[in-house]
Amino acid sequence: MAAYDLETHNYDVVVVGAGGAGLRATLGMAEQGLRTACVSKVFPTRSHTVAAQGGIAASLGNMGPDNWQWHMYDTVKGSDWLGDIDTIEYVTRHAPAAVYELEHYGVPFSRTEEGKIYQRPFGGMTSEFGEGPPVARTCAAADRTGHAMLHTLYGQSLKQNAEFFIEYFAIDLIMSEDGACTGLIAWKLDDGTLHRFNAKLVVLATGGYGRAYFSCTSAHTCTGDGGGMVARAGLPLEDMEFVQFHPTGIYGPGMLITEGARGEGGYLTNSEGERFMERYAPTYKDLASRDVVSRCMTIEIREGRGVGPLKDHIHLNLMHLPPEVIHERLPGIAESARIFAGVDVTKEPIPVIPTCHYNMGGIPTNYWGEVLNPTKGNPDAVVPGLMAVGEAACASLHGANRLGSNSLIDLVVLGRAASLRAGEVVDREGAVPEGPASEVDRALDRFDALRHANGTVPTAELRLEMQRTMQSDAAVFRTEESLADGVKKMDAIAGKLDDIKVTDRSLIWNSDLMETLELTNLMPNALATINGALARTESRGAHAREDYPERDDKNWRKHTLAFVDVKGKVRLDYRPVHTKPLTPPEQGGIDPKVIAPKARVY
Ligand SMILES: Cc1cc2nc3c(=O)[nH]c(=O)nc-3n(C[C@H](O)[C@H](O)[C@H](O)COP(=O)(O)OP(=O)(O)OC[C@H]3O[C@@H](n4cnc5c(N)ncnc54)[C@H](O)[C@@H]3O)c2cc1C
Repeated sequence: MAAYDLETHNYDVVVVGAGGAGLRATLGMAEQGLRTACVSKVFPTRSHTVAAQGGIAASLGNMGPDNWQWHMYDTVKGSDWLGDIDTIEYVTRHAPAAVYELEHYGVPFSRTEEGKIYQRPFGGMTSEFGEGPPVARTCAAADRTGHAMLHTLYGQSLKQNAEFFIEYFAIDLIMSEDGACTGLIAWKLDDGTLHRFNAKLVVLATGGYGRAYFSCTSAHTCTGDGGGMVARAGLPLEDMEFVQFHPTGIYGPGMLITEGARGEGGYLTNSEGERFMERYAPTYKDLASRDVVSRCMTIEIREGRGVGPLKDHIHLNLMHLPPEVIHERLPGIAESARIFAGVDVTKEPIPVIPTCHYNMGGIPTNYWGEVLNPTKGNPDAVVPGLMAVGEAACASLHGANRLGSNSLIDLVVLGRAASLRAGEVVDREGAVPEGPASEVDRALDRFDALRHANGTVPTAELRLEMQRTMQSDAAVFRTEESLADGVKKMDAIAGKLDDIKVTDRSLIWNSDLMETLELTNLMPNALATINGALARTESRGAHAREDYPERDDKNWRKHTLAFVDVKGKVRLDYRPVHTKPLTPPEQGGIDPKVIAPKARVY
């Protein structure tokens, strides 16, 4: 047994993650009078949310008519009818209040002439239940919305006396014998000490796992640590096969050019200078949903109409936009294009390519953030003491495909909901639980084994192998052949974790060890993704099977659950989609007929 001194901390609630979701939950928990700690491996304002550019969706109707029912319809359709209808209603209904709350907390939104919050059009956001013109629903602080939100929420959390443990890396959850979560073990990166957090409630807000892919828009910190911890605790991951590729990552380095660039009037062209989206999506053109645009770009490239010497990318044109629009609304992307592509956007097109951007799948939850572990009789059974929010979670707001600007609203509406629920279920007077010592030992033994790992495969090499395999075999288009081959390769790659080599044995700022821990988290996320994709013999949202081009609601309108054990073995199960709205039509709810499944065309 590994011998480490542990410093113990007791809290009502420990939130892991200080991105938009973690901070909104932390702030809410503290407001509820719960003793709250927030643990983060990076300084809060360096979380990936800081990079969100385009904005946050809410039907404020500042630029023309809009309402939450239209937003709800668009999100159901965007999800390709896999999203949980109760979650979608909850989020779209509470979205306007959540944005005004952010405004009052101090987020410096861009403004209209009359001083209202500025809103821009985004892909898949329409009016009249998909029959009317695109609607400007995405609230923006220029092209730095996430940055503004994160700084504001951090300040507000400090004001509520939430306690922050910054540059602490959460290693594993502590689970009791009867399956409740009672805390976690964390490693303090700057002094090498180890910490035990006991809590009545743990909230995982660890973000996505974009780094399972070779080319992605997400930060190096997006390594699916929450999913890894949950998988090791024997709990499932949901709908992991649904990975969003953003149409406009900068060709090469992968940095994002926001969809807001097309929202402001930018358009894509092929090597013939043709605005090809008009051919594929005659109504919404360049503002069709992301999965649709990414596939169209990939088809153009495959059919030989890509641009550049290798004909392997596409052009995004902003040259026709008035310079003041670029200066006021898109200053950050003009800068990114200059630095990362060497392009002056007022004179030349930006070279772009579909790039891994967002994980629809994650830790299954209900819309209160409570983690689900379906049992035989109850597909919605809750794991006591454990919640998940943000991109790490799958409350299934986004189903098979997320609409742009629907993630930031997910973070704040469901981060807030989790704190409201915690206010009800956490017993403020009760004792803080102390999990079994054997669980603590298990976590420390794993940590120690990796610290002293003396195999032959360096972490960086194995990570690259995983990333390349995921990029080539679980990408925009998928077939039985590529996926089966990918699963085989990924099994072999996961097996090499037993032969990993860590060279630095110290405990202080040991990035070699930290990246190895992260790789052990990326791996179960990647395995769940590619195995779920192989099993799902239909095309839905971001999951495009060339061999099964149709959506198959009869057999596949259901959520995948993937259990990944410590040896990398994957077992799949399924759970029904929630198909009932929360509010009946006679009380102002959406007519269930309007959101019944139909073909998804833009
Ligand atoms: C470039 C880019 C632009 C985007 N633009 C938009 C947009 O305009 N609109 C929109 O709606 N969505 C956008 N998205 C998506 C959206 O920004 C993300 O889904 C969202 O910000 C995720 O927030 P989060 O709080 O879940 O996670 P993150 O912001 O990624 O935060 C994760 C947190 O978890 C912590 N953490 C992780 N692992 C550990 C661990 N082991 N121990 C301790 N702490 C840990 C990290 O330190 C961090 O604080 C964009 C995404 C990208 C990549």
